[in-house]
Amino acid sequence: MTKEKVRHILSLSGGKDSAALAVYMHKKVPQLEYVFCDTHKELPETYEFLVRLEARLGIKITHLSSERGFDHWLQVYGGYLPSVKARWCTKQLKIVPFEKYAGDDTIFSYIGIRADEDRTGYISTKPNIKPVYPFKEAGLVKKDIFRLLGDSGIGMPSYYRWRSRSGCYFCFFQRKYEWIRLAEEHPDLFKEAMRYETSHGDGRTFYWNQGESLSELIQRREQILEDFEKTLVRKSSESKGKTLAEALEKMLEDEGSDPPCLICYL
Ligand code: SF4
Repeated sequence: MTKEKVRHILSLSGGKDSAALAVYMHKKVPQLEYVFCDTHKELPETYEFLVRLEARLGIKITHLSSERGFDHWLQVYGGYLPSVKARWCTKQLKIVPFEKYAGDDTIFSYIGIRADEDRTGYISTKPNIKPVYPFKEAGLVKKDIFRLLGDSGIGMPSYYRWRSRSGCYFCFFQRKYEWIRLAEEHPDLFKEAMRYETSHGDGRTFYWNQGESLSELIQRREQILEDFEKTLVRKSSESKGKTLAEALEKMLEDEGSDPPCLICYL
């Protein structure tokens, strides 16, 4: 009879919490496997952050990808861009590659949900994949995440200057302000996101944002930036001492914004 194989996996999203979890766990569980589910549509800053993490911690991060890329799945789903209500991207490009890598082994999957978060969501429903929440168990909160990343010399992902979450450059969860900033930081990627909206040869139109195309959105640049500033000022007491991304994160929480699958941004 073959012995059951037990493995320990930490899935990195390119976000701060999973990165801090790698800092926290890498000496505690030396056999930990680190993976990153790569949609090949991530921000350049995310790839740079993962390289930094590998170098600082002396770990190897395995990139997992769907056998077929985003464009293939876009065709399979009839050209419909993924959306909050139809998150086929998360399933095909993140969850399926992760579950394939996990196989049938008993997997302890380490998840960076913090003690100050009211969430229990998990990325997989496979019974052999067992979630572990070290931050929750140890009572670690947001300030501990910043401390872990700061003390390790890794710091924050550099997209954090202008965007609150990791994930694909065209992620439909981003705020209008973040789209405007994407156009400034990565005009080529913004153009590519626009192309996805207009490349349906049969005349159909699909937008990343409900009700507004990116070409319309960018024409409202000044207004969007102004509105964002006003919201920041209105909430200045809450955003005092916070970075821009933290303030953005807080706004998303206040709006009750539907969070993406944890595997994308945690
Ligand atoms: S980051 Fe956004 S667009 Fe990319 S897979 Fe996740 S939900 Fe989909």
